[in-house]
Amino acid sequence: MKIAFFDAKPYDKASFDKYAEGNNITFKYFETKLNDDTVYLANGFDGVCVFVNDTVNSFVIDKLVEMGVKVVALRCAGFNNVDMKHAFGKIHVVRVPAYSPYAVAEHTMALLLTSVRRIHKAYIRSKEFNFSLNGLTGFDLYGKTVGIIGTGKIGKVFAQICRGFGMKVLAYDKFPSYEIEENDNVKYVTLDEIFRYSDIISLHCPLTDETYHLINENAIEKSKRGVIILNTSRGALVDAEALLNGIKSRKIGAACLDVYEEEADLFFEDNSGHIMEDDTLARLISMPNVIVTSHQAFLTDEALENIASTTINNIVDMLTKGQCENELCFRFGNTEDCKNGKCF
Ligand code: NAD
Repeated sequence: MKIAFFDAKPYDKASFDKYAEGNNITFKYFETKLNDDTVYLANGFDGVCVFVNDTVNSFVIDKLVEMGVKVVALRCAGFNNVDMKHAFGKIHVVRVPAYSPYAVAEHTMALLLTSVRRIHKAYIRSKEFNFSLNGLTGFDLYGKTVGIIGTGKIGKVFAQICRGFGMKVLAYDKFPSYEIEENDNVKYVTLDEIFRYSDIISLHCPLTDETYHLINENAIEKSKRGVIILNTSRGALVDAEALLNGIKSRKIGAACLDVYEEEADLFFEDNSGHIMEDDTLARLISMPNVIVTSHQAFLTDEALENIASTTINNIVDMLTKGQCENELCFRFGNTEDCKNGKCF
């Protein structure tokens, strides 16, 4: 089985080559992303393996089908970059529904702690032997209220971590899992109540038509003065212009972003020698109370191992048995979600 692997990075190759051995799979690694221009590279392959910023639109799907490609293997959980409606009945799409919710939840807490304890500032100061504490005053997380939007695998782990810090946890989910209210002392509330009562808001829901720009001018208006926004989910959950305005007006106390709506052409690459064309991102990064990481939350040894082993199992199942438990279904969820009535 020959698979064209797009947007390949050195850390991908090590784990994928390890699991490919013995599974009769050969990967051809392409550094370029999959899109309208690069889709022709997949000619002669049985499948393509793609990540969060590859484009699997109707044009790409039609070309892949024409060239005899049978499977699109996402090596991530989110699938907002795939035109699922167009793919249905033409090509199989599989994903890795969970590789390490701990990786993403722990990174979210790392960003929050960095922000509230000014670690990003202190690190740079002490490198220059500047041991002054002026301007580094933070606040205790203990007793603060965090509002978690999306209580799936990652949101649940983040709720547990926050409880470990003695924080009050409010949650909103379109499909609540009420057992976490009992086990983890979490309280489900309405979205408006999340905005009204939370000192910190953390996003862990998928990007859908419904959640697009969930954090917008209106939501920011309803939020507490000084609120901290955490986004380690998908960039377009946040209207970046509205976020910037909220920071300028001092309504938002801080923002920690691992994802950005326009990240596709920037993140995962070294742009340090280039002029930054995206004024909104440049302005956000220039703010002392904004921390940006480049879609790094998933990047742990454990997650990379799980991504590689699950993706290879998915490809083998799909190409040899014609079915796979991680195949995405036409109703925009995975088969497991469909069984649970959780299609979105
Ligand atoms: P999940 O499917 O387990 O959980 C998502 C939750 O969101 C579910 O409980 C679902 O009911 C809820 N939801 C769906 N629609 C909603 C809506 N309109 N409003 C509120 N809640 C809604 O997914 P997960 O594994 O916890 O991942 C969450 C998100 O994290 C993914 O969608 C992905 O975008 C992102 N992610 C980011 C990284 C990273 O490296 N930064 C890595 C993995 C996943």
